[in-house]
Amino acid sequence: MAYTVPKLTDYSAGALERASAELLSALGKEAAVVKNEEEWRIFRDRWMARKNGILTQINDVWLKGAPKEAKRVTGQSVNLVKAQVEEKVDGVKARLQIPHFPTTNLGSEISESEFELEAFSKAGLVDITLPGVHREIGAEHPVIRTTNEIVSVFQKLGYSVAEGPVVETDYYNFEALNFPPNHPARDTQDTLFIAGQQSKAARERLLLRTHTSPVQIRTMEKMRPPLRIVIPGTVHRNDPPDASHSPMFHQVEGLAVDTNITFGDLKGTLDHAMKALFGSSVKTHFRPSFFPFTEPSAEMYVSCFICGGSGKRGAEPCRPCKQTGWIEILGCGMVDPNVFEFVKDNGYDPKKVSGFAFGMGADRIALLKYGVDDIQLFFQGDVRFLQQWG
Ligand SMILES: [Zn+2]
Repeated sequence: MAYTVPKLTDYSAGALERASAELLSALGKEAAVVKNEEEWRIFRDRWMARKNGILTQINDVWLKGAPKEAKRVTGQSVNLVKAQVEEKVDGVKARLQIPHFPTTNLGSEISESEFELEAFSKAGLVDITLPGVHREIGAEHPVIRTTNEIVSVFQKLGYSVAEGPVVETDYYNFEALNFPPNHPARDTQDTLFIAGQQSKAARERLLLRTHTSPVQIRTMEKMRPPLRIVIPGTVHRNDPPDASHSPMFHQVEGLAVDTNITFGDLKGTLDHAMKALFGSSVKTHFRPSFFPFTEPSAEMYVSCFICGGSGKRGAEPCRPCKQTGWIEILGCGMVDPNVFEFVKDNGYDPKKVSGFAFGMGADRIALLKYGVDDIQLFFQGDVRFLQQWG
């Protein structure tokens, strides 16, 4: 019969001595028959494993079970037993000439990988005395940093942040933004459609959103006017990658709806935002444009913050503004009444409310701000490039 730790009822010195002697006699008998490393490991674990080894058991059963007045003498007995068990386990290891690894107080907690590491170390393959691997602390990606800067400018104006799904339905991405099926403006925002949806109605088909504008509709469906939101997010288009295009990029959009919002509000808001982003000396300039969901629409330019609007950097031509002194930064316009028709039931009666919307590419602004000449660098994950923002 293998030895098991008995419960003690008598905690007198004599009883403790008898219990210890019985345990040590079992230890001696078991130690004598250990013949190889594998048996020794089993033997060691039976006596010394932190979880349920015999030493743990005597600690739990004898010491913790002892009445208060017997704690001290029981503790002494347990310590004596522990020392002898450890000595015996080490003695058997020495008798069998088992190579050394750090065991004494770890018992079975030593894992196979630690054995292997020890072996590698012995073979000179790993130097375990070398310092550990130093992990660098990460930094904000330049595109995320730029996005956050833009968002915070509008948050200070009282805008709240809205977000929406990247996989969108045709309805939210196009139709509700006044791109009816077959509208030519859809061609400029060609995108990836999810496969296998032929059985669905056209407006329910899923695609990767081409702009963050669907979030405008989604938010207007949920919240009644007045509304001021800023929408950061990832978008996709069928653009082959080159120095200034990427099939995946980032936008920040904004929408303000209230009664009596005019184009003057749009100009004032964006002029303020550009000065906050690029410095108080930049000027803004609007040129007529077309977007299906705004009417009238404009492209906004800022005076070149690299050459100060002169088109020259010393004797050299200024490339970012193509020597014009102006940089196109965003598209904007007054929300087309047709868009409000889609959310009319939630208080957006186009006869009563008006609003403006704008959208800009966060990647493009990051390129300009940091003087990076290839958008691909942002998405290649090359640490040497990204470290510059660390
Ligand atoms: Zn310039």
